[in-house]
Amino acid sequence: MEKAFAKNLINIEPYVAGEQPKSDSIIKLNANENPYPPSPAVYAAISSFDAEDLKKYPPMDAAPLRKAVAEFYGLDRSCVFAGNGSDDVLATAFRAFFNSDKPILYPDITYSFYPVWCELLKIPYKVIPVDEGFNVHIEDYFIENGGVVLPNPNAPTTIGLGLEAIEELIRHNRESVVIIDEAYADFNDVNCVPLIKKYDNLVITQTFSKSRSLAGMRVAAAIADPYLISYLDAVKDSYNSYPMDAVAISAGVAAIGDRDYFQETRAKIIATRDRVTAQLRELGFILPDSSANFLFATHPDHTAEEIFLFLREKGIFVRYFKKPRIDNYLRITVGTDEQMDRLIEALKELIG
Ligand code: PMP
Repeated sequence: MEKAFAKNLINIEPYVAGEQPKSDSIIKLNANENPYPPSPAVYAAISSFDAEDLKKYPPMDAAPLRKAVAEFYGLDRSCVFAGNGSDDVLATAFRAFFNSDKPILYPDITYSFYPVWCELLKIPYKVIPVDEGFNVHIEDYFIENGGVVLPNPNAPTTIGLGLEAIEELIRHNRESVVIIDEAYADFNDVNCVPLIKKYDNLVITQTFSKSRSLAGMRVAAAIADPYLISYLDAVKDSYNSYPMDAVAISAGVAAIGDRDYFQETRAKIIATRDRVTAQLRELGFILPDSSANFLFATHPDHTAEEIFLFLREKGIFVRYFKKPRIDNYLRITVGTDEQMDRLIEALKELIG
């Protein structure tokens, strides 16, 4: 029998994250995590953290982290907001900036959390199809809207747009807020931070989960004109004044402070990515050049589902989305060289 209060419960289809298998022997290439550990500075920050400090609330507004991100980019700290992973920051931004009766715009093939937040927050939206090659065409976004959100590079397609295209997008949408989700921008040579001083309708979200190996710590930032940052703070202070805990703030400060380690890890992933792209093409895979830390590949002779299941059987987890337009593609995170060698060996076994 249905409970009397059932009609009051939320009816929503939540986002489904990549599987988190328990076994360490699994090669985990399904959640776009960084295969390398965090910077040694993060280990030092965590081991020297005084647990007694946990009796107090964390630093107000995660101020040390905002300051560190501002310093990294040479910005004023009033341009930075910090949150508990970019999912938290993005959800806060959707709430703060997309309060219009007009639909917000984003690509049909993109981060599948966007429609979930729209449903949750009752934000109208319109999806703009990417072309056959999964390219985003900026002109398609020159229509009336209540906001725009676009990952650059896009996920799961791996395709990045240049700064000029992004600037064009922002210039044609001066009446609404444009959020550029830069979760993977560190694996590309393009980020929009230089545009912040020019455009007061631009919001950039960045995460420490990918290029800084802190997925388990939940650390992220938004960068925007201080006027928009004040709205993010107002939303944050309307549901949770302290979304970031004290340990995460210390780890984040340490991670962003170690520029050499960041550059070294990033360069390793980019080199592995480009090598594996060529190897996959040799095996007959078709895939765009990736600007991210993952690949998006299809094969003419084997279905993506077949390859996914074959790899899974071998203990190699990649991501397969049973969704229109992309149900014959696999999203493969770039792991270490050894992990990717194992992947290529397994694929050779299947494909010959
Ligand atoms: N944006 C995109 C495009 C992503 O793929 C992800 C990772 N799932 C996120 C944002 C959120 O990452 P996090 O919450 O770990 O910062």
